[in-house]
Order: sequence, then C-alpha cells, then structure tokens
Amino acid sequence: MKKILITGGAGFLGSNLTEKLIENNFIISIDNLSSGSIQNVKPYLNRPNFQFIEHDIIQPIDIEFDEIYNMACPASPVLYQKNPIQTIKTSIIGTLNLIEIARKNNAKFLQASTSEIYGDPVEHPQKETYRGNVDTKSIRSCYDEGKRASETILFDYNRIYGVDTKIARIFNTYGKNMLKDDGRVISNFTVQALLNKDITVYGNGFQTRSFCYVDDLIKGLIKLMESNINDAVNLGNNEEHTILDIANIVIKKTNSKSKIVYKNLPCDDPKKRKPDISKAKKLLNWTPETNLEVGLDKTIEYFREILK
Ligand code: UDP
Repeated sequence: MKKILITGGAGFLGSNLTEKLIENNFIISIDNLSSGSIQNVKPYLNRPNFQFIEHDIIQPIDIEFDEIYNMACPASPVLYQKNPIQTIKTSIIGTLNLIEIARKNNAKFLQASTSEIYGDPVEHPQKETYRGNVDTKSIRSCYDEGKRASETILFDYNRIYGVDTKIARIFNTYGKNMLKDDGRVISNFTVQALLNKDITVYGNGFQTRSFCYVDDLIKGLIKLMESNINDAVNLGNNEEHTILDIANIVIKKTNSKSKIVYKNLPCDDPKKRKPDISKAKKLLNWTPETNLEVGLDKTIEYFREILK
C-alpha cells in the first residue's frame, strides 16, 4: 500500500482526492484548516488507512511518504487576498519544505499549479507554452507569483536532484466540498440562487471562464501522478462561458426568484480564460467528461443538502 501525503487535504480538491485515493492507499492528510474544513475529511477520520495532521506547511515537518499531492493554498481570490503574505509563503516556503522531504524520501511530487500563472492572458486559449501576463504589483500576485515560483522550484529540483516532479495547471474547478462562502463564482451564484438572494455579477458579466467538474479534474491529477511527465500540464474543461451565462443557467436550473445585480469588477480580474488541453489529451489520454449542465446539477444538489 502506497503512503500518499495530501496537503490541503481538508480543502476542496484535497478532500476529493482523498475520496478516490483512500480506496487503495494509506492517506496522510495535512491541513491548517485556514480555508479547508474538517467536515470534508470527517468520513475518513476513523479509517485505519487515514491520518489527519493539523499543520501549516510553512513550518517544517518530518514525515515519510511515497507520493505527495501538494494542494495546500487558498485558491479563491477572496480568500487568498485576505492574507497575501501567508498565501505567497504557503506556495514558496511550503513547497520548499515539502520538496526537501520528497527528495529525502525519493518520493514523487505533484504540485497544484494554476491557470492564474497565465495572469490576464493575451493568448487565447492558453497553451502550456504561453509565458503569461502577470503584474507583480497586482493584488492577485501573491497567488499568481507564488504558484509561478512553486513551479520553478519543482523544475529546479527535477533538474538538480532528479526529483520526479509533476505540475498540474488547474483551471476553474467546481463541485462538492467547495465552501459555500469561498467567494468563487459557482459557489456564490448557486448559494444565492438557492436562497433566492440577488445574484452578484461583477462587471458587465462578459468576462469568460471555463469550468471543470471536480471528478474529472481528480482523474486528471491521478493520471498525471502516474505518468512519466515532469513538464507542466493544463487540466481543465475547455467549454467556455461568460459569467452572465452562468448566472442565467444557475437561475434557470434552481427555479430561483433571484435577480441579477451588477457589482464592481474586482481589480485585475482576467477578461477571459480557457485551457488548451491538447497536451493532457495526448500524453495522459485524459479529457473531461462532465459537461456544465450535468456538473451544475450535481453541484446544486450538494449545496441544497448543506444549506438544509
Ligand atoms: N464573479 C462574479 N460574481 C461573484 C463571484 C465571481 O461575477 O459573485 C466573477 C469574477 O469577477 C470572475 C469570475 O466570476 O470574473 C470567476 O471568479 P472566481 O472568483 O470564481 O475565480 P477566478 O477565475 O477569478 O479565479
């Protein structure tokens, strides 16, 4: 049985990874519970092949494992901007701490990177070869630059020490175990619609995103870990929608009485985002299978339950 460390294990992606990997592996889940929820790991706490450690990866830790999925870091703009110094430390110091242990353990290391490393992209859709458009001054850069640096750390540990590193550039993902108040668009709109509250569209709503259902993303992450690829790979769904579209679809699906209201666009909000996933399709034989309609139905059901 492999020993797999999942940092950010109580978070949205970490807990969904745990659900899949716990069937055949020993899972060590680390989380500082800053944006993760103990509720997300509750089903596993009594399992003999599961260990939860409340710990902040900025602090060193000594631990043995065969593989690590480094998913620790708040990922919603609202949450990562709350404590920007903590955010950039998590990506840089946290990654350095963990990759040193991976090197000693001869363990595989998968880093959760992000579409945010492309910033406000001028290339569309975004291929892995695109170097991005990030402003160091931006309030988003604690996350964007932190994740960019974490990628650099992995590339250097691979070149210098031969650590088996994998980098997943994760595009907008949604589904079960998202916090209802994490500030992201799908959770905000779904909760607002279910409660018949105003739907808050930022800006004119013509900005676009491409949303991947969490189960698809998790399959992609596991395939990447099992591959021999050390390069960065985009993982996401390339079905692109305007935010206004999303608002209307959610209102319709929930039969909500909510009205759309327009709020200020957050600073440096990217105007469009859509992954080119040809690399993942070719090298991992991975492609997302859940379209937005189906993914939203499942997500609405999830939020309906937790709002009860
Ligand atoms: N957004 C919105 N209303 C909300 C939350 C987000 O219009 O209540 C917009 C936001 O401005 C952005 C898009 O939805 O253009 C996606 O935002 P999110 O925070 O989910 O993630 P991002 O892709 O910006 O990291």
